[in-house]
Amino acid sequence: MAILVLGGAGYIGSHTVYELIDAGRDVVVADNLQTGFRAAVHPKARFYQADIRDRAAMDALFEKEHIDGVIHFAASSQVGESMTDPLKYYDNNLGGTMVLLSSMVAHGVDKIVFSSTAATYGEPEQVPILEGDKTQPTNCYGETKLAMEHMMSWVSRAHGLRYVALRYFNACGAHPSGVIGEAHNPETHLVPIILQVPNGQREAVSVFGDDYPTRDGTCVRDYIHVTDLAQAHILALDYLLQGGESNVFNLGNGVGFTVKEVIECARKVTGHPIPAVVSPRRAGDPAQLVASSEKAKTVLGWKPRYDNLETIISTAWAWHRAHPNGYNT
Ligand code: UDP
Repeated sequence: MAILVLGGAGYIGSHTVYELIDAGRDVVVADNLQTGFRAAVHPKARFYQADIRDRAAMDALFEKEHIDGVIHFAASSQVGESMTDPLKYYDNNLGGTMVLLSSMVAHGVDKIVFSSTAATYGEPEQVPILEGDKTQPTNCYGETKLAMEHMMSWVSRAHGLRYVALRYFNACGAHPSGVIGEAHNPETHLVPIILQVPNGQREAVSVFGDDYPTRDGTCVRDYIHVTDLAQAHILALDYLLQGGESNVFNLGNGVGFTVKEVIECARKVTGHPIPAVVSPRRAGDPAQLVASSEKAKTVLGWKPRYDNLETIISTAWAWHRAHPNGYNT
């Protein structure tokens, strides 16, 4: 029996495939390669170029392969873009998940782990955020991810499917081997943007707003290493395979860093002055997102290994320095 990883050519998906294969699992990857890279797919995974919105392609996959469980990363994930092109998020994230679940139900595949996000909470009432806290997204990306969670919940009641939603905080870093890492085109995430400066690809980093109610006025986020996220997917899948009920877990380190602190840490790691320029706020950004991941630790036995920002940024720097143009290097 195989594990199907949808979006397995993307950033977090490709790292999860590496961890699954290292753990001796049989892995099938499907990805439409719109934002993912064929070169990011582990050579031992069976690869299909397919879009989750394509019902015939999903049906063909479930008929050909014996799929025991699905890990679903195939979604659009940029906060800024979701505010200017919300329908893209409804189409890809909600439309895609609807087609996928229809095909899973039709083929009796009843276990799914999927990427949700801290953006489901919106501006939190308290930090660290607990899974039961209020969900009121401030951007369309978070709204579609929350709606995906609700879709799973209704499908679960009607058809007996079981799911785990993993609400990630800020994924960053790269595989410790340096073989795979973060690559988006265009890049929008803070850590890779910062590292473009010492790589000679950008003059300075723009700091999106310094008038938030935080210790230095810039947004606070909880940065979590991609390999630790990948491990959590395997634990969540095993939890479902062992009969666990549908559930939601936060994944973060429980420590928040401001944008300015992340830049300072990258200066230390790279030895480069990395100039920063304050610019206007980005639409949709909550001031603070910091996780409590106690539930994932207690229920899934999750133990993050890279809980130090300097180590996380060092792994990202090793990848970006060796691959300044990502997989096209
Ligand atoms: N950010 C920034 N400059 C950039 C990119 C991001 O100041 O060039 C800020 C952004 O406003 C947010 C934080 O960095 O407060 C993390 O943003 P990112 O897009 O990496 O992740 P998100 O929190 O949106 O998932």
